[in-house]
Amino acid sequence: MRNRLAGALSTTLVLLAIAVPALGQTTPLEYHIDLGDPAEDLFHVRLAVEGLGTDNDVYQFASTAPGTYQVMDVGRFVRSFEAFDADGAPLETERVATNQWRIADPSQVRSIEYSIAETWDNPVEEHPIYPMAGTSIESNHLLFNPHAVVGFPAGLQDAPVHVHLEYPDEWQVGTALERADDGGFAADDYDHLVDSPILLGELTFASTEVGGAQVEIYTYSKSGGVRSEQLLGSMSEMLKSAGEFLGELPVDRYVFLFHFEWAGQTAGAWEHSYSSEYVLPDIPFSERAGAFITDIAAHEFLHIITPLNIHSEIIESFNFEQPVPSAHLWLYEGVTEWGAHAMQLRSGLTTIEEHLETIAGKIQADRQFRADYSLEQLSLTSYSEEGQRQFPNVYQRGALVGELLDILLLDLSDGESGLQDLLQKLMRYYGKGRAFPDCGFYDVVAAMTYPEIFEFFERYVRHAEPLPIGEYFGTLGIDAVTDARGQVVRFEIQADADERQLMLRQAWSENE
Ligand SMILES: [Zn+2]
Repeated sequence: MRNRLAGALSTTLVLLAIAVPALGQTTPLEYHIDLGDPAEDLFHVRLAVEGLGTDNDVYQFASTAPGTYQVMDVGRFVRSFEAFDADGAPLETERVATNQWRIADPSQVRSIEYSIAETWDNPVEEHPIYPMAGTSIESNHLLFNPHAVVGFPAGLQDAPVHVHLEYPDEWQVGTALERADDGGFAADDYDHLVDSPILLGELTFASTEVGGAQVEIYTYSKSGGVRSEQLLGSMSEMLKSAGEFLGELPVDRYVFLFHFEWAGQTAGAWEHSYSSEYVLPDIPFSERAGAFITDIAAHEFLHIITPLNIHSEIIESFNFEQPVPSAHLWLYEGVTEWGAHAMQLRSGLTTIEEHLETIAGKIQADRQFRADYSLEQLSLTSYSEEGQRQFPNVYQRGALVGELLDILLLDLSDGESGLQDLLQKLMRYYGKGRAFPDCGFYDVVAAMTYPEIFEFFERYVRHAEPLPIGEYFGTLGIDAVTDARGQVVRFEIQADADERQLMLRQAWSENE
């Protein structure tokens, strides 16, 4: 890392003499992870395992992870890989792909041991892993994104996992994972583990209750300039408005993990089902910084809706071996970004004028990307270089499509129900464990709403027709003011709007 902290973390590798049970449906994969000397930047990982068959002879590291839409190839960070039999004798292993190691005689394996480098301090030439999806070992804290350390024997993606981490007693631990009886962090399966980052170290903590859910904030700030209580102060109104937007929170507990140190280009955040992880520059806390962080947190928190509770089968049974794109980033990222702003408008946290300014900003930002590159194409190519270049536009044009879809639904229903209601309906129908068909989802939504919605998807998601901003905002009695080239630069609220426009504007801008 750029600014390595001096001092060695004193952890010792605890060689546990554990009886290793044979693999069964409910036998957890027991991982013991030692951080060694932080200057080494290595995780020393030991998986105690028995009962592997020929179906399990490949140990798989993640090629990507849900919600990142990027190639990660975690196998690139592996520095050593060995397997041992019951007598501790090494077994033959061979690297067969970037992310795969084959074990010659899996039935003999009693332990798999490997070392894997942290991602922050080990830059790679291509496909750098986002810092919020990576790992950092330092003397006073640890950022642990499980997919960047832990893999799984092929065929055992559904087996429960326990992760035992060695770290100093005085460290605080922030994670949505619960503890197993044996002290390890317990996940139902590999997907659940990957869905649950862990931040440990010298952290500050604050918590509150939102809509019946326990919300916890853990913060690491290198300078100590940002504390959890300050962030909670900034975020509490936003969290309340999220509760209103969602109707009820689909979780009992939610954990925010904040890490303030990153000075690179790709600071950001990553959503999970019961938590989110933020890697941001360590600027001293101010009201403005708090508002900025709140906007990001609003987006990540709203991911509770989608993809976490509304997603296609491609997300549901996630393929860690080969990145498989879903066509619906317009929904996962675009609609989430729309909702993060719409919920703040509807609960009165932002004014109509502020909201329209945000939209105008997105219209301008959209122009920095290829006009002819549709949102569906952006989704389906997100793992390619061309797609990665267009990817950031999902937060611009994707959010604008959310905005227009909302207005269209409100118009068609005479102000009765918009995109917010549709999302709640989809959440109730699908939810965490039920996926929608990646191919055919546009028909599903049209069948739940209006035939016109299918045409909307056809024109503005599947294809890249110019967005009808002026026409749609006109139904709300809001004028889109254009420049000489016909491009929208700002909005003006009509003083002489008619009754229907006023009714639709109210439905669009206020909670019921
Ligand atoms: Zn997002």
